Amino acid sequence: MIKKSRGLLPGLFIITIAYFSLGFVSILLANLALLCMALPFILLARVKRKVWCQRYCPRASYLNQVGKKHNWRKNPRFITSGKAKYYMIWYFGLNLMFIAGSTTQIAMGNMEAMPYIRLFIAIPLFPLPQLLQVSVPPFLLHLSYRFYSMMLSTTILASILALIYRPRLWCAICPIGTLQDKVLSWMKE
Ligand code: SF4
Repeated sequence: MIKKSRGLLPGLFIITIAYFSLGFVSILLANLALLCMALPFILLARVKRKVWCQRYCPRASYLNQVGKKHNWRKNPRFITSGKAKYYMIWYFGLNLMFIAGSTTQIAMGNMEAMPYIRLFIAIPLFPLPQLLQVSVPPFLLHLSYRFYSMMLSTTILASILALIYRPRLWCAICPIGTLQDKVLSWMKE
């Protein structure tokens, strides 16, 4: 019997929109990004398939919506050559290192917090208006803004690719997807 392949669950894109909207309620909720990063690997360990990418990824669902009404173009060479995937892994790794390092330094009192959005590690923007004003240590505020900034930066990049080329082109260079492939190959060895 041939197993019917199942796609993404419907409506998951709302989670992506909710994530960025909740940043206006309290930026502390941006730390939910950690859950988004951990869940694909937890599922991978249990099912030994990229079930997150196949069924549950809110970003993939969001990108399907963003790129829905556009004419698809041929994938660009910088994606198909594999270079962009390599750069994205470096970007992701550096970003996580920067987040961990700067948050630690702030907690130790060696550095000022950056309680505002900074796109692609380098473009400072502004703090978000907050519906809930909660008093928290500066390092936690900093950590929350860093996660929000990372998620926003990659979502902007993924949206541009979806608008110019095709909805889920981002998946070809997504660091979470690349790392899952790597873990999967280790599991099969
Ligand atoms: S590759 Fe990344 S964006 Fe695409 S489905 Fe997987 S986790 Fe989501």
